[in-house]
Amino acid sequence: MKLQRNTKQRQLIYSIISNRHDHPTAEQIYLEAKSKNAKISRSTVYRNLNILVSQGKIIQTKLLTTDRFEAVAKEHYHFVCSKCDAVFDAPIDYNQTLNNSLAEKTGFVVLKHRLIFEGICSECLKKADN
Ligand SMILES: [Zn+2]
Ligand SMILES: [Zn+2]
Repeated sequence: MKLQRNTKQRQLIYSIISNRHDHPTAEQIYLEAKSKNAKISRSTVYRNLNILVSQGKIIQTKLLTTDRFEAVAKEHYHFVCSKCDAVFDAPIDYNQTLNNSLAEKTGFVVLKHRLIFEGICSECLKKADN
């Protein structure tokens, strides 16, 4: 029985992450899970996040100060708003050439690179106009 409950909770957490595209923090995921299942505890959510990451179903990325979660997607860059902390996928192509040139220069195996753009999002710009 306990095992079944765990699976259900994990499915709930996974569905929350795959339905959101704002790269929620663990706390935001917990709050949404709690609104859908009042019995779920913070530690259950955090534990299941770790399990989903180790199963390769979600990605955990440290963006500036906080860990953010999203469903697995192909490699991409992020933009973080310096005013409201919102995180967006950057709509530009991942540059595989960077990995190759570093690998050639060093002989290292380069798996990936991460790039975080910082600036002000369109919502914050709109607010600043008023
Ligand atoms: Zn913003
Ligand atoms: Zn992303």
